[in-house]
Amino acid sequence: MRIAIVGSGPSGFYAAEAVQKKVPGVSIDMFERLHAPYGLVRYGVAPDHEKLKSVTKVFDMVAGKSGLRWFGQVELGRHVQLEELQQRYHAVVLATGAQGSKKLGVPGDDKPGSYNAADFVAWYNGHPDFRHLQFDLSGETAVVVGHGNVALDVARILLKPVDELATTEMASYALEALRNSNVRKVFVMGRRGPAQAKFTNKEVAEFEQLAGVTALARADELTLNDASQRELDSPAGDEARRNVALLSRFADVAAGAGNSRSVEFRFCLAPVRLEGNGKVTALVLEGTDLEGLPFKQEARGTGRFLAIPCQAVFASVGYKGVAPANVPFDARSSTVRHVNGRVVDESGVPQAGLYCTGWIKRGPTGVIGTNRNDSMETVATLFADLQAGPLVEPPVGDDIADLLRDRGVDFLDLQEWSRLDEFEKRMGARSGKAREKLVQRHEVRAALQAALDFH
Ligand SMILES: Cc1cc2nc3c(=O)[nH]c(=O)nc-3n(C[C@H](O)[C@H](O)[C@H](O)COP(=O)(O)OP(=O)(O)OC[C@H]3O[C@@H](n4cnc5c(N)ncnc54)[C@H](O)[C@@H]3O)c2cc1C
Repeated sequence: MRIAIVGSGPSGFYAAEAVQKKVPGVSIDMFERLHAPYGLVRYGVAPDHEKLKSVTKVFDMVAGKSGLRWFGQVELGRHVQLEELQQRYHAVVLATGAQGSKKLGVPGDDKPGSYNAADFVAWYNGHPDFRHLQFDLSGETAVVVGHGNVALDVARILLKPVDELATTEMASYALEALRNSNVRKVFVMGRRGPAQAKFTNKEVAEFEQLAGVTALARADELTLNDASQRELDSPAGDEARRNVALLSRFADVAAGAGNSRSVEFRFCLAPVRLEGNGKVTALVLEGTDLEGLPFKQEARGTGRFLAIPCQAVFASVGYKGVAPANVPFDARSSTVRHVNGRVVDESGVPQAGLYCTGWIKRGPTGVIGTNRNDSMETVATLFADLQAGPLVEPPVGDDIADLLRDRGVDFLDLQEWSRLDEFEKRMGARSGKAREKLVQRHEVRAALQAALDFH
């Protein structure tokens, strides 16, 4: 049996792990469009959350098992087509994540100074596709719109003393830009209240420990309506309860409190437009009231507006999946259509041998570990299908590596990735960093040669 997995982020590796557990030594080929594996663990998770990145050791163990081949720099839809995989594998598992992000969607969000948080994150994490971006951090005030952990990552990275980031794997050009940054004040704001915020307590609490930064909130914005109080009092309200307690502490702090930099958490404010003649100079927001039953409350505009003078706005309003070519896709949820991981068309008809997992399956939610259960479900479906019917032999028996070579695709294998990995760590060590990521695609071959020369 041969299985193809497209994407080598957490969900791809967890799918491989689940397959290996069912059939040790099974032949698995993983395809990854970038020169490095690990998906958002490398290009999303904040560089100062180094411990979280150690999950890559688990992925390395999966990759090291016999039967698994990794093809770096091979993009589905570009270097290889889905039909070509289906001709060579009994099953194809799509684990391509959510490659797009949502815009703020208000007038003025295309002005210079208006950014997508997802782009900023990919840029400071050294993602090759985002290397060319520039973020103007010359102003003193930035606003991050969104109440999730990604919004908090962005706020923290904007405010954290650069010396503390300089030992991480953050891209050097980003460190340089942050060193020259004038940002002193960051607002984190969203349409709904503190009880509905999606960020986790651990991430909020980090702001209390941030050197030289005061964390602030406003007592009047932390007042809860009846429905929000009931949300907090319910068993599902544990995280929110602790968030509100923490934010209340921030509300007791006097603005300034001796620090030159601050983060201020704001609630029940919906972005209306970005102002500025040319560049962004202010974000206009409308106050909101929450209406509806607990856990179903909607933010409704109050007709009261305010403008926050700022020079940069980061929209952190969500990632979204991009349709892999020719795969049934639900544009509303930006996910592949599926039942328990089995890809189905609009009428629910299964697409033989085609599966999905991770963010492209369930949308951009959950932590890294959530992808493990998700992939286990998909793989259980895959094996149930294999047991239900006789295994259909793929029509073409040739090796995909030959096809890629014939096509002149400059793909990388696992050994080459581990040389790049070593190279990055060695380059990082020179300047006291965890690693110096190789960002530019055209540098990959030279780096591989340099790694060989070193040995
Ligand atoms: C900014 C940010 C911070 C986060 N921080 C944390 C955190 O601190 N803790 C935590 O637990 N979780 C965190 N997460 C969530 C976690 O990263 C995700 O749950 C997880 O990465 C999703 O896994 P995935 O495999 O579905 O997608 P991804 O990680 O995105 O992996 C998808 C992979 O597929 C590849 N790919 C895409 N298209 C193709 C194609 N056509 N051909 C070949 N390859 C392709 C991509 O290059 C990528 O490597 C964070 C997420 C973000 C966005």
